[in-house]
Amino acid sequence: MSDRRPFIAGNWKMNLVREEGERLVRDLIHSVGEVKETDIAVCPPFPYLSDLHDVLVGSNVALGAQNMSFEAKGAFTGEVSSSMLLDVGCKYVILGHSERRELYGEDDEAVNRKVKAAVDAGLKPIVCVGERLEQHEAGQSRDVCSTQLRGAFVGIPPEQFRQVTIAYEPVWAIGTGRVATPEHAEEIHGHIRERLTDAFGADLALQTRILYGGSVKPSNAEGLLSQPNVDGALVGGASLKADDFAGIIHAAE
Ligand code: PGA
Repeated sequence: MSDRRPFIAGNWKMNLVREEGERLVRDLIHSVGEVKETDIAVCPPFPYLSDLHDVLVGSNVALGAQNMSFEAKGAFTGEVSSSMLLDVGCKYVILGHSERRELYGEDDEAVNRKVKAAVDAGLKPIVCVGERLEQHEAGQSRDVCSTQLRGAFVGIPPEQFRQVTIAYEPVWAIGTGRVATPEHAEEIHGHIRERLTDAFGADLALQTRILYGGSVKPSNAEGLLSQPNVDGALVGGASLKADDFAGIIHAAE
């Protein structure tokens, strides 16, 4: 890793009810209270954000959401806006996760509108890109990531791009136990940084954190995080247990 500050974020997805989430967060704060050099966030389901914010206040663990609307307000049943996320204490929001893209039909244009709405509001988006298995096997990993990156950041000026974190999440590695090799992650992260250099210039590209996501566990975290262009992790399954998530955070230190 370079002088970019490591960042480990937990994506709880649709898991953990109130009591489970609160217990996890208390255990986590206890385990990582001494961590100073790594940014940490948890991204619970919407209904618990506000209560968990109260538990997290004063700790070194920040709060994020897993999705948001690109609309500001109005007749959009079931949607949640950027200002609502800020209001309940969110600092981050995951956008363009492959589950949103594949299960809920989010395309690059929708991701772009969400990125715009998030940075306009002052939220820090964690923007996910990554190829599906057949694209991986066809050698298209780089091209898929390039296209998704281009689509996500149309019309985003550099001063707003500063708020963005990228997460490279190969779809074939998410929830499958089939983690990318450190070499594959490094290759794609390097490619992503090159594309960011083209779009935003070398300085900004070098400052941007690129997380890896997909079956990250305490046992494989160190190999991934020791790669020069891997600046942290977006963790799903292993973020649901305080010990496992803390183990990954300690591997980043
Ligand atoms: P996983 O999920 O760690 O369970 O593979 C990662 C993610 O979807 O962000």
